[in-house]
Amino acid sequence: MRVLVVEDDEGIAAGLKAHLRKLGWAADVTDGVTSAWAALCAEPFDLVLLDLGLRDGDGAELLRRLRQAPAQRLPDAALPVLIMTARDQVASRIAALDLGADDYMTKPFDPDELAARMRALRRRAVGRAQAHLRCGALELNPAARTLTQAGKLVDLSAREFSVLLALVEVRPRVLSRAQIEARLYNWDSVLDSNAVEVHVHHLRKKLGSEVICTLRGVGYFVPQERP
Ligand code: CA
Repeated sequence: MRVLVVEDDEGIAAGLKAHLRKLGWAADVTDGVTSAWAALCAEPFDLVLLDLGLRDGDGAELLRRLRQAPAQRLPDAALPVLIMTARDQVASRIAALDLGADDYMTKPFDPDELAARMRALRRRAVGRAQAHLRCGALELNPAARTLTQAGKLVDLSAREFSVLLALVEVRPRVLSRAQIEARLYNWDSVLDSNAVEVHVHHLRKKLGSEVICTLRGVGYFVPQERP
């Protein structure tokens, strides 16, 4: 999952970025309304963590613009947004939710609770109610970042798990290499040109070659029904 953190407190932003990274999520940080809007127009994100009191304006303004964005273009007007702010008045929470925020956390918050809420938002965004994803003999647990195949735990690297999760979440849709990269790597990642191929290769070796299919020239997909 690729997350945009919009936060002007450098300490909080750095802490969040490190925490999300530990959870296997790629996070980019912007500190204002203008820079956040530019980032959202340029890259596909899966979720936004949005502070309200920003360096150059109010996060609510960014949310308003996002929800009014035209369909089929970046930024995605339906992008899940979780507000994180020190404003703890009920009225401010109601205003943000009615403006189109999906969830709201008051600072200071527990980072593990934040992560659980982010997973819940992601489930809703991809139309899934269950916390675990089942796909044939595979069962992925996004909270623990574990995978079992026919009930047996399979040892995956953080990136391998992220590639598989990205594909299983949208199955049987095809994701291009660039789409997978955009979900896994943030701006400061040093990227090998064949990184995604290498992860897919390892996943096939560990899970069987039929788990991930290649659509030549387009990308990769996990078939809906597996034998
Ligand atoms: Ca702030």
